[in-house]
Amino acid sequence: MTFEELNLSPSVLTAVTACGYTTPTPIQEQSIPVVMSGRDLIATAQTGTGKTAAFILPALERLTVKSTMPGKGPRVLVLAPTRELAGQVMDAARTYGRGLRPKCGTLLGGMPYRDQLRLLSAPVDIIVATPGRLLDHLERGSVRLDRLEMLVLDEADRMLDMGFSEDMEKIVARTPSNRQTLMFTATMEKSVLVLAQKMLNNPQRIELAVRTTSHALIEQRLHVTDNLNHKKELLRHLVSDENLKRAIIFSATKRDADELARELSNNGLPAAALHGDMNQVARNKTIERMRRGAIRLLVATDVAARGLDVNGISHVINFDLPRFAEDYVHRIGRTGRAGASGIAISFVSNSELSYLERIERFIGKRLPEQNVEGFAPLSVLRRVSGGGGKRPGSAKPSRFGASANKGKNSPTQNQGNKKTKSGFGRSTRQGSQQPVIEYRSRRNPTA
Ligand code: AMP
Repeated sequence: MTFEELNLSPSVLTAVTACGYTTPTPIQEQSIPVVMSGRDLIATAQTGTGKTAAFILPALERLTVKSTMPGKGPRVLVLAPTRELAGQVMDAARTYGRGLRPKCGTLLGGMPYRDQLRLLSAPVDIIVATPGRLLDHLERGSVRLDRLEMLVLDEADRMLDMGFSEDMEKIVARTPSNRQTLMFTATMEKSVLVLAQKMLNNPQRIELAVRTTSHALIEQRLHVTDNLNHKKELLRHLVSDENLKRAIIFSATKRDADELARELSNNGLPAAALHGDMNQVARNKTIERMRRGAIRLLVATDVAARGLDVNGISHVINFDLPRFAEDYVHRIGRTGRAGASGIAISFVSNSELSYLERIERFIGKRLPEQNVEGFAPLSVLRRVSGGGGKRPGSAKPSRFGASANKGKNSPTQNQGNKKTKSGFGRSTRQGSQQPVIEYRSRRNPTA
């Protein structure tokens, strides 16, 4: 199928061609005709599948016809869970809409009200917002949604995870009932379907398989680790390798991201942190530096990295496994972009076993365990056959200070585990249960 066959108007087609897109992606091919027919839609699609264009292109098509409704509120509203994702959706709207020049802008938490109020002072076509800030504006009376024609809930599952359910309902209650509603989600879990039932009217359902095609370019590895120190040693070893061009390291909490970035930097491995406690200017600056290649190591949390669209990430390292299996897919999708290959490395300790089993069920395969010479674990992963083990124990989120959590989770850890003081040199680890690999030789498996 071609973009021409999707009946897009010439100005939208020109913008798509200028982006260098030759054919629609599967989500675009399936969604665009449904959306252009005016029907509601619920679709599973992950970041990186081209889902943004799947709703922005038909939204732009709507804007080619003048609104007859008086007022200044948006005709198209996109709700997104994070400021980064919202920013990317806005960029896409501007790029694809360059021929139509829609009036558009973002309403994001952490950003000054002044610019947002200026945006809302004149009729606006497209608004991309995070739920909290939009609700704020609705309650202040600075925006109305009675002119709304299309509502898009992007990454709806994530918005639910982040506790935006009530905000979304309050927002939807202020929109016209004849609006068109589109919902994009990574999974069709029950809570998403319940939300869809409340907000969508007889939607067409499109379910694309988990993005296995692009993940085929990503080599996934699992390293069993004994404890926090072992993770840190292994991390420093891996990121010291010059074949690692650019990496995103995922940590469980914002505080861990800060502390891990600081520790790496203090150890001569400059790293930056990216998380939701940073103000938007600092986050944008960090992402821009990552895009330019000025940052080689980024330690991030899931929320901040969701939707992060940076090419040239050679490695994703899961210092901590994500609690939600979909996040694993999102995380590793930061590498292997634009047809490049990538390596996704996950550290797992016994306390994270149930997370691992959840991920493996979700992706439908076992992650292959590998050891790095000199860094083999002393403990063995106590897998429950068939998966579904109990939830991880009480691993404290902030483990970088004092002595929290040391030696708690794995009874087999520390047996003869001799570490260097700084944790920099190689420890003389012997307890490997897995074939030991010489790391460098595995770096580029196709070479
Ligand atoms: P998204 O899933 O919307 O975050 O898009 C992921 C990436 O795919 C973005 O960098 C887009 O520019 C790119 N993209 C979107 N549609 C196409 C297409 N039809 N062909 C090639 N690349 C695309």
